[in-house]
Amino acid sequence: MSVIGYDLGNLSCYIAVARQGGIETIANEFSDRNTPCIVSLTSKERSIGSAAKTQIISNYKNTISNFKRLLGRPFDDPFVQNEMKDLPYKLSRTADGGVGVRVKYAGEDVEFSMAQVCGMLLTKLRSITEVNLKKPVQDCVLSVPSFFSEVQRRNLLAAARIANLNCLRLFNDTTAVALAYGIYKQDLPAAEEKPRIIIFVDMGHSSLQVAAVAFNKGKLKVLATSFDPYLGGRDFDRLLFNHFADLFKDKYRIDVRTNKRAELRLLIECEKLKKQLSSNSGRMTLNIECLMDDKDVQGAMTRTDFEALCAPLIQRVEKPLRTILQDAKLQSQDITSIEIVGGATRMPAVKSTIAEVFGMKVSTTLNADEAVARGCALQCAMLSPTFKVRDFTVIDCTPYSISLSWIAPMGEEGDMEIFPQFHPAPFSKMLSFYRKEPFALQARYTNAEQIHYPCQDIGLFISDEGDGSKIKVKVRLNIHGLFSVIQASIVEKVVVENGDERMETQEEVKPPSTEAAEKVEKKKVKVKSKDLPFHSQLYMNITEQEIQHMFEVENKMIMNDKLECETSEAKNLLEEYVYDMRGKLFDKYEGYTTEQDRTEFGKILEATEHWLYEDGEDEMKAVYVDKLAQLKQVGNPILRRYTEAQARPAAFEQLVLMV
Ligand code: ATP
Ligand code: MG
Repeated sequence: MSVIGYDLGNLSCYIAVARQGGIETIANEFSDRNTPCIVSLTSKERSIGSAAKTQIISNYKNTISNFKRLLGRPFDDPFVQNEMKDLPYKLSRTADGGVGVRVKYAGEDVEFSMAQVCGMLLTKLRSITEVNLKKPVQDCVLSVPSFFSEVQRRNLLAAARIANLNCLRLFNDTTAVALAYGIYKQDLPAAEEKPRIIIFVDMGHSSLQVAAVAFNKGKLKVLATSFDPYLGGRDFDRLLFNHFADLFKDKYRIDVRTNKRAELRLLIECEKLKKQLSSNSGRMTLNIECLMDDKDVQGAMTRTDFEALCAPLIQRVEKPLRTILQDAKLQSQDITSIEIVGGATRMPAVKSTIAEVFGMKVSTTLNADEAVARGCALQCAMLSPTFKVRDFTVIDCTPYSISLSWIAPMGEEGDMEIFPQFHPAPFSKMLSFYRKEPFALQARYTNAEQIHYPCQDIGLFISDEGDGSKIKVKVRLNIHGLFSVIQASIVEKVVVENGDERMETQEEVKPPSTEAAEKVEKKKVKVKSKDLPFHSQLYMNITEQEIQHMFEVENKMIMNDKLECETSEAKNLLEEYVYDMRGKLFDKYEGYTTEQDRTEFGKILEATEHWLYEDGEDEMKAVYVDKLAQLKQVGNPILRRYTEAQARPAAFEQLVLMV
């Protein structure tokens, strides 16, 4: 069974595998551990990851990048509408109101949902892993930004299924980092001692995430998380871009904003410049040949200028850092260290801001790029029955508070916060109600300001029965961070609270409206309970049928990619044969053919070469295979005569020796 961790970033992905010797990150077909989050579609096939990088400019309309942040969002979301302006590819509204992308693929205009695009990327990650491990892969743990809402999480799980992956857990980025940090620490305080508090900061390409984590021997507990989902390395690239775009307008009279290719090229160079400014404080230059209207451009910047330009962004780094101190009720002296990961934390100004807020130097104990993937692989190993890992309990928390509301029998409404913000997760709770008639529970995020998502709805859980008895409803915040009603039952007599369940993290909650009626239930009584059927209507749900359909579409595309790959291999083989045979026919094979045969075969080879560049440029695999077989019918006897002649002296020598 596979034990894999995938860090699905906004810019790039990392893959870690757990082996008995430890965790290892693996490289893709370009020997690179960093696989870009890019999916490019062409008239024939898809290229994904590193292979798609070359298409970013040449095939920009059909090359999808920066898409993780669009996953599971409604198309009308102001964030999506704003994002659309800068994207080189075209977004569309899918039938369910979500975000899709319109591209040309295999000669047709096609729409893919964002879950499908993510599924494509995951297919690629799965295939890289399978090539590396030389066996099929299914079980994995996938990283997810801690701020992702229900719908975003469900979309990511759907993407995993589209890619034929069995995601054992959606693991919050910063929790993964905390696990990668804590599991190897030998000197953590004992269970009864004061925990060691570490702050983890992950600033990637598109977001900033912070977690306050308490460690004891064999255990980590996330106390609080905070984030700015809209602040990452790319915002710095954009500021540089705007600076140079304005500059070039004055200096060279070109407006790169009117030319997508020029815009993309400048953006790529700005990212490079930003990185250079992290390690060099002097004046760094940016040179682009033929950027637009045949003009070569040049710009320059020092780190001081860069930091002045980006001061508003740097200032935004502070807020989530201060928030977490408040939310986790921590002061600097409570914190042992600040561990930073994510590419954008390499910027000196970001580092010094973090250090300033916490009043201590930041540490870089962990690999800034690979820590999330490593943590995911560790978690996968812990969840996998086939793998033995050191016992380590991970208690995460919900970033947003969740409430339930209902209409009671007499018409009065009820509303209750079930999971307050930072409540431990995963976790189950039992709720009790009295109901005479069918009822519905509405789950939603309590607080619009907490979530970074345009809708608070989670879903409606409806039961069409109810007969005046006590009803018990079990709700759960599951391992992926998803809320659900997992069971409802009619109880005829009441049981002692917490007495009937085995789950480690569970408590009984009574909605206030039913409290009076429950006073008597503290004693142990025998109960009879009967399951109460209910159904869920989840906000922006993806149905089983839809997932199955997308899975089939993905499989067709995988088959098509495979066929395209085989076709180009068949074409290459034919091409190689033609060149090789043409060279040798008039050279080392000369003595093994008649002049007439040679001339005729030479003509056929030449004709095939022309055909390959003209009519035969874009043929089916079978055509290339047939052509090669025909050529070999003529060529093989020549080759055989030649090989036999080569082998003759040695055979003769052996014969002499035997005599
Ligand atoms: P996210 O976590 O936001 O989904 P990600 O995981 O793909 O995205 P990372 O790989 O952690 O992001 O970081 C990528 C970002 O870090 C990019 O914006 C990149 O330009 C930036 N970055 C990488 N190295 C440096 C550096 N030396 N100096 C400044 N920025 C850097
Ligand atoms: Mg990341």
